[in-house]
Parts: sequence; C-alpha cells; structure tokens
Amino acid sequence: MNLASGFLNRVSYASVYKAASVSALCCPACGEPQEDELQALQPCAHLACVYDQEAQEFIYKSEEFKQRITLSGEVFSGELSSKMLSRLGYADELLALDLTRAGCWSRQLFAFNFNVNVD
Ligand SMILES: [Zn+2]
Repeated sequence: MNLASGFLNRVSYASVYKAASVSALCCPACGEPQEDELQALQPCAHLACVYDQEAQEFIYKSEEFKQRITLSGEVFSGELSSKMLSRLGYADELLALDLTRAGCWSRQLFAFNFNVNVD
C-alpha cells in the first residue's frame, strides 16, 4: 500500500436520500442490506466504515479500515469527506455514500470497498 498515492487518487462520493426511513441501505457491490428490520447494523464484507456526520464519530470500522487509520496516523474531526478517505490510501475502489433519511436530521456516511474478495 502506497499512502502517498492517496493524494492523487479520488474516492468516489455520492449523496443518497431515502424517502422511506425504515428501508435499509444496500451494498452497491453485493446488494446485501446493511441493516436488519430493527435498524441494527449488519455489515457485509464490502463495508469499510460508517461515520455519523452529526455526532462526528465512527459507528463501524472494518478490520482493514482500522489498520489503515493506524498506519496513516490520520486524526479525523468534522465531517468525513472523500478527501479524508483518500488519505488512507483508498482510491476509486471505495464508494462513499452520504445517506440522509426522510424525517431524520442525521447523516451517515457508508463507505464500501469494491476490492474486497468475498469467498
Ligand atoms: Zn457487500
């Protein structure tokens, strides 16, 4: 992993709005819903992290994501951006979805890693 290349590469980013507050966000790589009926997080293998943009804290970090944070020495504050994710050495294999739900003022950023092998 070359962390310096993170400055040149761009993590993909999209804003997602869900009109139905109870419908779960599905993984764009494998289609698995990331929450059960009780809105408890059910991360698939592609999910790298979930970040609460209002509380400004991570709700979920994959093992690989944790390792990248440790290696990079990055300290996150404020809203998590695709630029910050690029600093962890991610490029366009990572898709950051900034999720807003109807009737909910909080925003959560779900980052999916398409380079994860699932088998
Ligand atoms: Zn998946």
